[in-house]
Amino acid sequence: MKPAIRDGISVLYRPLAGGYELNFLVESSSVIMPFEVDAHTLRCVRMFDGTHTIADISTAIGVSEASVSGLAALLYDQKLLRTRDRIYDRYEGTRFATQANFLAGFANDESPDMQEAIDASHVAIIGLGGIGSWVAYGLVLAGVKKLTLVDNDVVELANLNRQCLYDIACIGLPKAEMLAQKLRLVDPALEVEQVHRLVDSLQACSEVATGADLVICCADEPGTDEINRIVSRACYPRGIPHILCGGYDGHLGFIGPTIVPKRSGCWLCYEHTLEHQLRSAGYIHLQVTPAQIKGGNLGAISAIIANYHVIEALKVMTGFAPPTLINQAAEVDFLTYGLHLRAYRKRHDCAVCGTQSDEEITDGQPNVTHV
Ligand SMILES: [Zn+2]
Repeated sequence: MKPAIRDGISVLYRPLAGGYELNFLVESSSVIMPFEVDAHTLRCVRMFDGTHTIADISTAIGVSEASVSGLAALLYDQKLLRTRDRIYDRYEGTRFATQANFLAGFANDESPDMQEAIDASHVAIIGLGGIGSWVAYGLVLAGVKKLTLVDNDVVELANLNRQCLYDIACIGLPKAEMLAQKLRLVDPALEVEQVHRLVDSLQACSEVATGADLVICCADEPGTDEINRIVSRACYPRGIPHILCGGYDGHLGFIGPTIVPKRSGCWLCYEHTLEHQLRSAGYIHLQVTPAQIKGGNLGAISAIIANYHVIEALKVMTGFAPPTLINQAAEVDFLTYGLHLRAYRKRHDCAVCGTQSDEEITDGQPNVTHV
């Protein structure tokens, strides 16, 4: 046995009178586990790097093997030592080596190989513009091997300030085809279904979502709210998790919600909560700017907003952490970097999600949280 501190655990110490304070920081949970130890124990822990046997450590430190084993057993009980061959060792030397180390920091003995879960996922992305192109790129970087890419547009010169991977040679050509070509340069093993169509009906959405484990909506046609309604109506009854990207408006970015059937309310429930909050505050929406007028935007904002959604997608695929945007959406202010969470509740009388038996998480009243 070669004891090794688990991945994702930082070890810190400081001298105390007569010994040391030794702290194990579990990075995935930010939990700190403190111990008071002597100099021998500190030296033992320093050698728990997976390359030394108990006998090696015993000889090097000058303590009994029983002492080293006892220390290893104590740390093992506290889940601070690796307890089996690392499933992520197979990724050493591959493009996913660093990512595998990240995932290992969230793994326990029962965890399946989370990289395999990413590799096996089929994701449909609706809308391949300022958000969707970055989302597709982020997912391929993470190892997703099967994508359905959906967009009815062609690449335009004015897209190139913010849309990922397209270039001058792509202008006038279909986004789905161009993005597929570029993504295959990143991962030649990528399997892509290119769909050059507008998703503007339940039928169209159901067709592009067929076979997908996850749908990510990054479209703004036929309107952001309308396409989100269509996606939720098409995906929720079929049990397909879907992430709805609100996009950006000036210095604000909108993230989520992440909708997992039976765990969360649908988009219509979210809209209902927003309308209720506006009404109860006495506000009435006055449409002044025509919806077809495009707002201003920055490539950097597109990339950041999109990558929040990529992280949500990876949480859904792997479970390395629970999706953050279950029953809530977020608003990021790029002037202050403040993040505001807006919670909502699943409505039991909702026509889309209300009739399903559920394991919903509906703690607390809908509110706005300032983080
Ligand atoms: Zn609903």
